[in-house]
Amino acid sequence: MELGLTEELSRQRERARELTVRLVELLAEREKVVADIARLKAELGVPEFVPEVERELRAVALKRAVDLGIDQDLIRRVLTLILKSSVRAQENPSNSNRVTHMDLMRVAKRMERNGMEVVHMEVGEPTLGAPAAVARELSDAALRGYAFYGEAAGLPELRAAIAEDLMERFGVDVRPENVVVTQGGRLGVYLAMASILSVGEEVAVIDPSWPHYKQMADYLGCRSVIHKTSLEGAWVPDPAEMERLMSDATKLLVLNYPNNPTGVVIGEKLMREFVELAERAGAYLLSDEVYMDYSFGEHETALATNSERVVMLMSFSKSWGMTGYRIGYLVAPKEIADRATRIQGSLLTCVPEFVQVAALKALTDRETPKRYREHMRRGAEIICSHLDRMGARYVSPAGGMYVFPELPVEDATEFALKLLKDRGVAVAPGSVFGNYQRHVRLSISDSLEKVEKGMRAIGEELRAWQTVTDRGNPPVIG
Ligand code: PMP
Repeated sequence: MELGLTEELSRQRERARELTVRLVELLAEREKVVADIARLKAELGVPEFVPEVERELRAVALKRAVDLGIDQDLIRRVLTLILKSSVRAQENPSNSNRVTHMDLMRVAKRMERNGMEVVHMEVGEPTLGAPAAVARELSDAALRGYAFYGEAAGLPELRAAIAEDLMERFGVDVRPENVVVTQGGRLGVYLAMASILSVGEEVAVIDPSWPHYKQMADYLGCRSVIHKTSLEGAWVPDPAEMERLMSDATKLLVLNYPNNPTGVVIGEKLMREFVELAERAGAYLLSDEVYMDYSFGEHETALATNSERVVMLMSFSKSWGMTGYRIGYLVAPKEIADRATRIQGSLLTCVPEFVQVAALKALTDRETPKRYREHMRRGAEIICSHLDRMGARYVSPAGGMYVFPELPVEDATEFALKLLKDRGVAVAPGSVFGNYQRHVRLSISDSLEKVEKGMRAIGEELRAWQTVTDRGNPPVIG
């Protein structure tokens, strides 16, 4: 009898092996078909991602999963992975060979090591720095003994102060148990995503976007679906277009206003429409509001929608120039806050408590964020007035610390490289934020004098660039 069972187990194992190999063979066959589709699409000028075609494919596959009585969630997620690799296989390989802003930064660093002065308009870091009172509080706190392991969600007094601050400023009902103090906004994005998403799910992102969202989605084995906005449309996103791109695997939407890199903000109505879209889709909405204090008008927080689907992200990096302190926070529904806390606890144990005490001090200082916002507003004015003279197209920012113009050049990355080498001004190429080959992101990190100097250099480089282009057609090679 027992021998019979052992034989049966071996037989079934053999069968599982055969089926697994067949799965691989089927995937290989599918890959060949995808290559053919890619060729045909390229000839016909059809984009690699056509949401309607994917949706139909998903529906057929899921129906089959229902007929066969197998776990639909598994099929949904496996499909995302297969579709993600199909789209990737169809992408133009030259896209991934492009010069990135990291390459530019390396060149800038090398130039500085060689004693040359570089104007930094490529990074999003206010060089104004943290207020002295905050720095003093940091060292005092360490001396007072705030230097042991602490709670993974953050110091209870800081979580309470954050909840109170949000309540006072925006009239929103936030409880300390919904607040998780994170080691910077960057980690906050990861914690939110890791708490919400499983492998094979999708994140809806609005381009141009801070690249971190897509990178984190990728690291988590997820896929980003991109709603591309345009300069012509004043970078305003459209919930209906976003909905068209989403599938039943889309579990998170990301908004970021004031926006990096465009500086635009969206009003309460549009914000509400996106929150409702997330609710309808059974997804969450991550509202990255790290530039809230750099809003030139009133800031609209997604928390005001009172939705159980909203996760809000904030950081001390921009408002108080505390980039090196590495501290931010999430405000999230209890189950997400708890999950984020567990993940952060596993990764870091806790955010250093002396840093949290310094953040507590920063919260009492409303003057510094106002001063920094004024700096950004004036910086944006300088940049825009220069852009007007250059004839560059852009949307005037309503907040944040960047302007994202389209320059009269074919390839802004090449231009950025030349600008850095010739005139020591570093800017971030638009291709970093999505498919925006003619754009650059100009940041107001440095002093206003440096911003002015940088803009003058960009104007000069542009004139030189155009003179070369006007001189005649480029030589024909081959
Ligand atoms: N969100 C956005 C949109 C950002 O641009 C940044 C920083 N560049 C962050 C979050 C994170 O900042 P930090 O990690 O310094 O808090």
